[in-house]
Amino acid sequence: MIARERTANAFLTELFGLTMKVAVVTGAGSGIGHGIARYLAGAGADVVIADLSLDAGARVADELNAARPESALALRTDVSDEASVAATMRQSIERFGRVDILVNDAGIFPTTPIAEMTLQDWERVQAVNLRGTFLCLRAAALQMRKQGSGGRIINISSIDSLHPSMVGLAHYDASKGGVNMLTRSAALEFGADKITVNAVLPGMIATEGVAAMTKGSPGAMAQTTASFGARTVLGRVGTPEDIAACVLFLASEAAGYITGQTLVCDGGYLIG
Ligand code: NAP
Repeated sequence: MIARERTANAFLTELFGLTMKVAVVTGAGSGIGHGIARYLAGAGADVVIADLSLDAGARVADELNAARPESALALRTDVSDEASVAATMRQSIERFGRVDILVNDAGIFPTTPIAEMTLQDWERVQAVNLRGTFLCLRAAALQMRKQGSGGRIINISSIDSLHPSMVGLAHYDASKGGVNMLTRSAALEFGADKITVNAVLPGMIATEGVAAMTKGSPGAMAQTTASFGARTVLGRVGTPEDIAACVLFLASEAAGYITGQTLVCDGGYLIG
């Protein structure tokens, strides 16, 4: 019985474990990205926390290093800036020797109706969410191609790429629609290199970013999450861990034959 359990554990570790893998997670200083970094590290990967805020990134790296010394590195990164992305990729390789997994999580979601939206508002959201995903994806895929042993790229999109959830997110929704098509096109181009490219589409997830979106109006966060939760088939909003579990699966050996796909993780919100 014990021998059988050991065999099952070894099988699962091989399928879902990430020992000896190196992951770069953008936007991992808070929210969903933080949850993803914790799950990938928990599965054995070394993790680069690439966030705009070095302080936030360093706090997450400290947490991961406390659990497994020297397994995490925080790098200040602006995903919308080509030089910053190149520097992060270079420093990740200097520190850990390779990059096997990229998670494009960094994203912004300011709200402005189209009638009041300036060109600057529009451009900033595209720059972070779509250009940033492209810059990181290209840099990581070229490194993975050079390494010659495949790789995993997971883009965090949104259910808003399929259906607008509220007024004021036109620039955001368009950027995430672009992320979905970039995901499919990149999957097509890098398949021969055994690099899979997939996207996860979260529904409403309670994060620091959502709290910031609703700050200024007392009780707005609770109201927003309560109303989304009530409209969700499973009766609650999501957690960063709900999304991290999807990413962990797509990053694993178990997902080796899945590419170019968009995985909705929304508690059934879209079918409700
Ligand atoms: P969050 O709590 O605001 O976390 C996002 C992180 O990305 C922050 O640490 C932020 O740093 C960082 N970031 C922002 N701009 C960046 C840049 N240019 N370069 C590098 N890092 C940058 O947001 P979240 O709710 O976890 O969202 C994470 C991702 O999930 C986003 O792509 C979002 O669109 C997507 N998503 C979220 C939800 C949701 O309900 N929460 C739903 C669907 C999709 P600063 O704090 O310093 O700005």
